[in-house]
Amino acid sequence: MMKKKIFAAVGMLLLVIGLCGAKSYMRQMKIRENEEVQKIEKQKEVAQERKEAMEQRKKQEEEKKQKAKEQQKIIKRQKKIQICIDPGHYSKKNEVYENGKVVYCEGNFTLQVAKELKKILEERYGVIVHLTRTSGNICINGYENLALDSGKISLRGEAAKGMDLFISLHTNANLEHANGVDTNRQPIGITKPIVIVNTVAMESKQALRVANAIGTSLAVSNAKLGISTQEKFHTVSGKDDILNWTDAYNDSVDKEGTVCARRGNNGDYYGVLRGASNVAVPGMIVEHGFHTVPKMRKLAADGTLAKEWAEADAKGIAEGMRLEEE
Ligand SMILES: [Zn+2]
Repeated sequence: MMKKKIFAAVGMLLLVIGLCGAKSYMRQMKIRENEEVQKIEKQKEVAQERKEAMEQRKKQEEEKKQKAKEQQKIIKRQKKIQICIDPGHYSKKNEVYENGKVVYCEGNFTLQVAKELKKILEERYGVIVHLTRTSGNICINGYENLALDSGKISLRGEAAKGMDLFISLHTNANLEHANGVDTNRQPIGITKPIVIVNTVAMESKQALRVANAIGTSLAVSNAKLGISTQEKFHTVSGKDDILNWTDAYNDSVDKEGTVCARRGNNGDYYGVLRGASNVAVPGMIVEHGFHTVPKMRKLAADGTLAKEWAEADAKGIAEGMRLEEE
């Protein structure tokens, strides 16, 4: 009897142990199964990520190709753009003397700026730049220096026929003894860039953008160089915003530069701008600064000013014409 009971208890115990073992085995199996599922999920995720990365790369490559194509298109368009630059006057015109010696000459300096500007525009943006003169002398249609700076001056503007833009480079002066001081000893406050546009440019959004941008970059440059008290340039939003040029404004001190127009009896007052208007080309005179300010003349003689102004002009032209660097 006792033996039977012991057998039954041992049997029960074995059954319990067996059941526990089976339960534990089942649990293990379940965990393994879960791990397997997670592993597969992870693999799926990795594959998806790889696929997405590949698609992203493909998309980026496609965008790069498209950008390069557009850049090519822009460069192709820019290579057709023609700008006519007129270095104002001619050699030995508008000289300033100090102690009996020539210390500045507008006709010589504008040529320096023009040469620098041509180089920047052609090398950086690939546009075509034509100069009305490449030396101290100017010759158009058999006319020379003095004639092309007086009675026949409109021929300079007409030289821009068929081109996209005409820009005549100058340095400014004031009336004798303006501001109650010697003509050529003007304070730096008189310096302001003035951009005088012709009647064609007044109607052209692009030309006004160029005029605004050249004026703005020159104002910044002049302030940085310490030859002006004004860093700002008054930009114009359209034809009605353009200031009528006057001597009072020209010679004013501590005033912002702006875009001006000057009308004469036959359209544009300045012959050089009238010439560009005659051939339907937007044109402008850029008065960079005043050569009646001693500090400006000093910087010009140092050799730094021509490059600085050419950079400022180029920046303005590129911004206004929306040129891209090659
Ligand atoms: Zn001039």
